[in-house]
This record gives sequence, C-alpha cells and structure tokens, in this order.
Amino acid sequence: MTNHLLALRDRQVLWHPCTQMKDHETFPIIPIKQGQGVWLEDFEGNRYLDAISSWWVNLFGHANPIINQALKDQLDTLEHVIFAGFSHEAAILLAEKLVEVTPDGLKRCFLADNGSAAVEVALKMSFHYWRNLGQINKTKFITLENSYHGETIGALAVGNVALYKQTYAPLLMEVISVPSPDCYACETGETWYDYSVRQFAFMEQALQEHAEHVCAVIVEPLVQCAGNMRMYDPIYLTLLREACDRYQVHLIADEVAVGFGRTGTLFACEQANISPDFMCLSKGLTGGYLPLSAVMTTDQVYQAFYADYQTMSAFLHSHSYTGNALACRAGVTTLAIFEQQQVLAHNHHLAQAMRKVAACFQEHPNVAEVRQTGMILAIELVKNKYSRQVFPWQERRGYRVYQQALAQGVLLRPLGNVIYFMPPYVITEEELALLAKVTWQSLVLAVKD
Ligand SMILES: *Cc1c(COP(=O)(O)O)cnc(C)c1O
Repeated sequence: MTNHLLALRDRQVLWHPCTQMKDHETFPIIPIKQGQGVWLEDFEGNRYLDAISSWWVNLFGHANPIINQALKDQLDTLEHVIFAGFSHEAAILLAEKLVEVTPDGLKRCFLADNGSAAVEVALKMSFHYWRNLGQINKTKFITLENSYHGETIGALAVGNVALYKQTYAPLLMEVISVPSPDCYACETGETWYDYSVRQFAFMEQALQEHAEHVCAVIVEPLVQCAGNMRMYDPIYLTLLREACDRYQVHLIADEVAVGFGRTGTLFACEQANISPDFMCLSKGLTGGYLPLSAVMTTDQVYQAFYADYQTMSAFLHSHSYTGNALACRAGVTTLAIFEQQQVLAHNHHLAQAMRKVAACFQEHPNVAEVRQTGMILAIELVKNKYSRQVFPWQERRGYRVYQQALAQGVLLRPLGNVIYFMPPYVITEEELALLAKVTWQSLVLAVKD
C-alpha cells in the first residue's frame, strides 16, 4: 500500500476536520501507518516529528507501552457498559483520582466524550444550578474575546474566534464578550502582570453591569490556545475568582487544552491558586488515546440537583458513550504515569530546553514575539517586526511553514501565522533541537517573496 493510493481512496470518501478539502488536490493528505514516541511514520517509511501532540492530545508518545498494556487488559475485561444505573472500576478510579489532583473544592466528576461536550455540560449545569435555586433571570454567559471552547453550537457561542464562529453566528446564543487579557497587545515596557490587571477592568465592568443575568464566566486559563496561543498572567484568574464570588457568578475554567501539565503545573488554575466552580478537561486526559472528557464541580453545585425525583431537579444530560471503560482506563493510566515518572519536574527541564532552542527566532525580521508558558511555545510571524503589520491572510504564510516543515519531517500546524510547539512530554533535547532547526528553515522559506 502506498501513500498515493491511500490518499486517493481517502479523497473519494472522507471529509476531514478543519480542512478545505480542495487543498488536497495539490497537497495530498498523509496516511500514517504507525506511531512510536514523538514520531509518526507513513506508508513509504517517511517519518514526522509530531510537534503538536496530534492536536494537543498526546502526552506520553504514540504507542506508549504502559497505556497500551493497560488498554489490552481492559479490553479483555470490559469494553463498555451503559453508564446510567451501572458503573465500573476504571470510571470510579478515574473520578477518585481527578477529585484528588484537581484544585480544592472540586469534588464531583461528570463524564462526557470530548471537549466541546464538556463545555456544553458546564454551561447547562451552571444555568440549571441557578434555576434550581429559583434564580431564573440568570441566562447569560460572559466570555473573553479571542477565546475558543469547541465547535458544537453551544460551545461555539461562548467562543470568540471569528474563523470558526462567523458563518454560524445566526444560530448562536448571544453572549457578553469582554476584551481579552492577551498580552501580545501590552505596551512596550508594560509587564504581563500589569497588562492583565489593566484588562481586568473590562471584566469588572461587565460583571457590575450584567451579573444579575449572568450564570457564569468561561475562560481558558493562561493560554488562549486556538486563538493563536495568546497568553496572559495568572493575576487575571486571581482577580476573576474574587470578582465571580463577589457578584455571585460561576467561574468555568476550560482546561481542555491547558490541563495535564501543558502550562507547567498539572492544571493552569494552580498558578493563580484558585478553584473554579467548573473545570472542563479532555484532550490530554487519556494521554491522546481515546475521546473522553470530564467536568469537575463542587459539592455545592451537586447538592442543588440532589433531591427527590418528584422535584424534577436532576441533571439529565447524557451521551451514549458516557464513561466508556477503555477511555477511562487510558485516563487512569495517564494519571498514574504523572505520579510514577515525576513528569512535571521533567517538563520543567524540557520547557527550559525549548526556550533555549527557540531563542534565536526572536532575532528574525518576521518574528514579532516568541512567548512561552510551560510546555507551550509560540512564534508570532508578521510582515514587519516593528510595526507588527500582519501578512495578508490570503498569502497563507503559516500554511507554507506547515508544508515546508512536513517536507523536512516535522509536523507543525501553525494557527494562522503563529507557529507553535506543543510536543509530547517524551520528546528529547536532541529532538527539540531538530524541531527548532527545521522550523527555522521552514520559516525562512515561507516568508520569502
Ligand atoms: C479543543 C478545545 C475544546 C474542544 O474540544 P474537542 O474535544 O475538540 O471538542 C474546548 N476548549 C478548548 C480550550 C479547546 O482547546
């Protein structure tokens, strides 16, 4: 079987996500035969370094022997069982562990099967909580500009990236949108801390104006990932937690992308020393193996639904594959690896190594900023470094970087004109150096003419 033949068959029957399929007339899709660690291999033996963890999900490499073994064992025991009226060991272990490792106060775990579904669950739960308390005026959500929370209709509505949202705007519920603390916009000489504090004034104002009608504020803690890896200071979260309490509004922390060590701590909220009312988790939750998500919440929220059946106050949200046993086992095993292998300490070194190999990009005339939060590093490509004038989007400079890097055996997937590294935690320092070298060469070729 060749790449070419498979790509041809693929194009006859498949429709890929986040893709203009016509692009594949000239730039064929790459069928992958196998993966090992940070490497993917196609049907002709070409290898690609997976620098973006296959869309931010993979933590401990492809074909990780520990997760593989755990899944084989689970497969021989129980693949799946209805999760209403029934339970199983993997789900219980996973929930116990998540309660233990997430910030204080998050004592309940509701399972779903992807990040968008987790966001939908958190939105519905927050609204329903206030309703169960008789606060029927609370029907709105506050969201940050440039945020992303998934692409189902509800999750899309609380997100703010135009590329994904604009077309569907007529279908979406209205939200209250507040300027982002995104520190790419800070003044020269202004610290991230100062800028984040300054931007918080908009949030304070929105809460003051609308709190009576607001169920929750939803944010991506520390890094707005799909919104071009824009970053801000933890102080914003500290201020937000305090304000949400003051205005009696829930705080939903969408850690779908930033959770499980990406920002340096197990969860990004830890850096602000806060506990949200809801925490959405997915992506890295299964180490990148299977679709699964969790919404962690407080006992206070749980108790507002806990009553005699006749009160009709139960949370009736369900998905067919809720609590899938294989996915839960992958989750339990992923969390065990964090414990057994001192992953966060190791990542601390990796993050420093990443900073070092990427430092040179700062000097490039088409790079406006190199920024990093833990294991996420982003390089902002512009036409003019000093004015920060952007390349016309039609030129697809980021896409050119993608194509050039693939030809040199590295899988990058720039967001617009922002190149980023978000590698699996098993990447070595040598591989990081290779990644930086290929990225540099690809960038140089992509900004020519
Ligand atoms: C990816 C992502 C989602 C959506 O998760 P899916 O599993 O792709 O539906 C939600 N929130 C954030 C912050 C994400 O990065």
